[in-house]
Amino acid sequence: MTTFADSLLRLRNAFLSGKSRPVEFRINQLNFLIRLLQENEAALLNVLYMDLHKSRFEAMIAEIGFVRNEAIYTLNNIKSWIEPEMVEKSFVTKLDNCFIQKEPYGLTLIIASWSHPVQLVLMPLIGAIAAGNCVVLKPSEVTANTAALLGKLIPKYLDHDCFAVFNGGPVETRKLLQFKFDYIFYTGSSAVGKVIMKAAAEHLTPVTLELGGKNPCYIDQSCNLESTAHRLTWGRFFNSGQSCVAPDYILCTKEVQEQLVPAIGQCLHSFYGKEPKESPDYGRIVNDNHFKRLQKLLSSGGVAIGGESDDQDRYIAPTVLVDVKESDPVMQEEIFGPILPIIIISCMEEAIGFINRRQKPLALYVYATNNKVVNEMLEKTSSGGFCSNDNLVQMTLNTLPFGGIGFSGLGMYHGKFSFDTFSHRRACVLKSSGMEKINSTRYPPYNDHKLSWLLWATDVKKRDCNCRLL
Ligand code: NAD
Repeated sequence: MTTFADSLLRLRNAFLSGKSRPVEFRINQLNFLIRLLQENEAALLNVLYMDLHKSRFEAMIAEIGFVRNEAIYTLNNIKSWIEPEMVEKSFVTKLDNCFIQKEPYGLTLIIASWSHPVQLVLMPLIGAIAAGNCVVLKPSEVTANTAALLGKLIPKYLDHDCFAVFNGGPVETRKLLQFKFDYIFYTGSSAVGKVIMKAAAEHLTPVTLELGGKNPCYIDQSCNLESTAHRLTWGRFFNSGQSCVAPDYILCTKEVQEQLVPAIGQCLHSFYGKEPKESPDYGRIVNDNHFKRLQKLLSSGGVAIGGESDDQDRYIAPTVLVDVKESDPVMQEEIFGPILPIIIISCMEEAIGFINRRQKPLALYVYATNNKVVNEMLEKTSSGGFCSNDNLVQMTLNTLPFGGIGFSGLGMYHGKFSFDTFSHRRACVLKSSGMEKINSTRYPPYNDHKLSWLLWATDVKKRDCNCRLL
């Protein structure tokens, strides 16, 4: 029987042999990954439906098509990303070759969550491959069908010596974490994020933590009610609310709530029909534990829309809660399900105060046609990402970094940010062995003449804010 240790040794030896480093190898692996997505689209759609009742539409845009685009974007840019970066030099290093080399970390571990179980495994994998690493993938055991399929497909398409999938739950993950990795990329809850960081600290392994939290959504009285209701309803109930960047709760005045709730009701009706349970586009809660957890949250405040549930089907209706207090259970944890509480505030300043006394969120949303409101929210708050008059879309651009801050995460990825995350920036100076006369000024016996020459040669000139030399 092959053990963790045997497999990890195989991967580490492959890295040390240099197999994963040539750009041609990286390009081939990325092309194989694209082929994996193309040739197994139906099978991937099938497991996503089995695990999450995910519609073809949502699976294509948030998983299969999303990952494919990232792989192609990476292929289009990899040759320029891996180029060494030349740097400015001082007088004493003028004749040297000074640059930043982007070197792979080595053996990396990617631990994923279940909400988008294909995307969350393969998106970081693309960055890790592009940067030249060997990779162990640990999909979420919660979406067991998707995890099993990835466990079958990855070894079939990607290089066996450099990439491996280990399936299992917390017990197996903790065992895996006892081994030394050169980088750990984790997606999941903040609570488990701490476990990962502690385990990584034992080996001083650097980490990226892609965590969650409660994403606030401030709706200003100046908002365009129709587009706000459409975009917000789509964002909150996409994947049945099981998205880390979904708006978690609304902050608005009583007057805004009175108009917003019926507008959301109309949107739900036009999106999912009279019976969302019958809609092929509406998902299910991933497992019984999460279903029971969410069912308890339905009793916070009062139900304005929805509120029904069916444990046989793990169905929770798209629900809007009103009269919710900050101390209610629904406000004590990330909802990660199809429930949208509304908290009444009296003005924007109160909303900003509410947001700033809580943990920094992964995403922050504001709906307003008044640009002053948008700018003030942007200036006076902090979050992983920010979007005005829409939601979720900030994570679809591979030219923007994706990641949290503080409680919602550490580090970032997508596009070049993924490549950078999985690359060590190595400071390199290549000197010739000649020109020893120049070096003689730094050797003892020291004297004032040598010192003033050296200080002059290494002097950094101060500029004013307009970049003029002072
Ligand atoms: P989780 O932390 O329970 O599990 C994530 C991974 O960690 C799984 O692979 C699991 O096997 C492993 N794991 C679980 N418990 C462990 C333990 N005690 N020791 C070691 N490993 C353990 O999280 P989850 O339920 O899969 O995901 C929900 C959370 O993830 C939410 O907070 C959500 O916001 C967040 N999330 C964040 C992003 C993002 O990109 N920032 C994306 C999706 C989900």
